[in-house]
Amino acid sequence: MSPAFHELHWARDIEVSEYLMPSSLEEALAMLAQRQGKARVIAGGTDVVPELRRRDYQAETLVDISRLPDMDGIAQEGGDIVMGPLVTHAQAADSDLIQKKAGALAAGCLAVGSPQIRNVATLGGNLVSGQPAADASVPLLALEAQVTIASGEGERQVPLREFFVSVGETVLDPGREILTQIRFPALGEGQGSSYQRLSKRKALTLPMLVCAVVVSADAAEGVINNAAVALGPVAPVPFRESQTEAFLAGAKASREILVQAAETATAQCTPRDSLLRGSCDYRQEMVKVLVRRGLASALRQAGCTLD
Ligand SMILES: Cc1cc2nc3c(=O)[nH]c(=O)nc-3n(C[C@H](O)[C@H](O)[C@H](O)COP(=O)(O)OP(=O)(O)OC[C@H]3O[C@@H](n4cnc5c(N)ncnc54)[C@H](O)[C@@H]3O)c2cc1C
Repeated sequence: MSPAFHELHWARDIEVSEYLMPSSLEEALAMLAQRQGKARVIAGGTDVVPELRRRDYQAETLVDISRLPDMDGIAQEGGDIVMGPLVTHAQAADSDLIQKKAGALAAGCLAVGSPQIRNVATLGGNLVSGQPAADASVPLLALEAQVTIASGEGERQVPLREFFVSVGETVLDPGREILTQIRFPALGEGQGSSYQRLSKRKALTLPMLVCAVVVSADAAEGVINNAAVALGPVAPVPFRESQTEAFLAGAKASREILVQAAETATAQCTPRDSLLRGSCDYRQEMVKVLVRRGLASALRQAGCTLD
């Protein structure tokens, strides 16, 4: 291990015997395969380091992927936005492309932690950490994102709807696999998105609730073609509220419809009573507010006027 690793202040209290810096994806995957589940990927380290300190899990080896080439790009390919897993929250929030074609994601990324955290925390890490209210994961779920996962055996594509398993757990095996790409359809004419976040203060705080909405509408007719409503933390994983989505598909866009949609969403959510995040009753009331506000904002972007 590099002697410099021992000099890093955050390396105190962490019992790893190797810190590896691969220079290619192939090398990184081979390092993971050789260590047969005893290694762990580290990207920005903002989750891994506190987790190792808390002894949430153990890793004999850390494989640092932060210097892998071609993993931090944001580009449009045809109708899709394609992002590398090492894109940081600061990069996504600042990107013109993300602001214009995936506004909810830009807003979610801007809400993360503090500038210091946003500058190093990656979108890949946010997804793989599998937290139900993660500020990039929830909008990516509403945007119908899919991820590419690579291992020594090859690659697979997984829609985010099938990616999250439980709190802190996804279908990705963190000791053997690497998330290599995030892809979702770019929003265009007749579409809009919004990100709403309820927290006790603006920076460095756990969200009590987050809500990401993406809509497609026929503005001339005032009809909602379809809507995606993602919420957190109201279940063990970032949550798509399918009953509200079904209720809105084909509905006339009006304030009354948004109130009914918000009631439907609340009926499906059972947030836990939490000392940190508020009571179930309070958060159920606030689901109504965030869903209604999110839909109204996204529909206005899609060109609809609400009477
Ligand atoms: C002070 C503080 C404030 C925070 N505030 C927020 C907040 O407001 N909102 C929020 O959502 N989060 C917040 N977080 C959590 C954290 O910053 C995010 O989840 C972040 O996106 C994690 O990314 P990372 O690059 O640091 O991941 P890491 O810590 O490097 O890794 C996280 C997990 O993902 C795995 N991993 C990382 N990249 C890959 C990959 N490409 N392929 C496979 N596995 C991978 C790691 O093995 C690990 O299991 C905060 C954290 C701190 C310390």
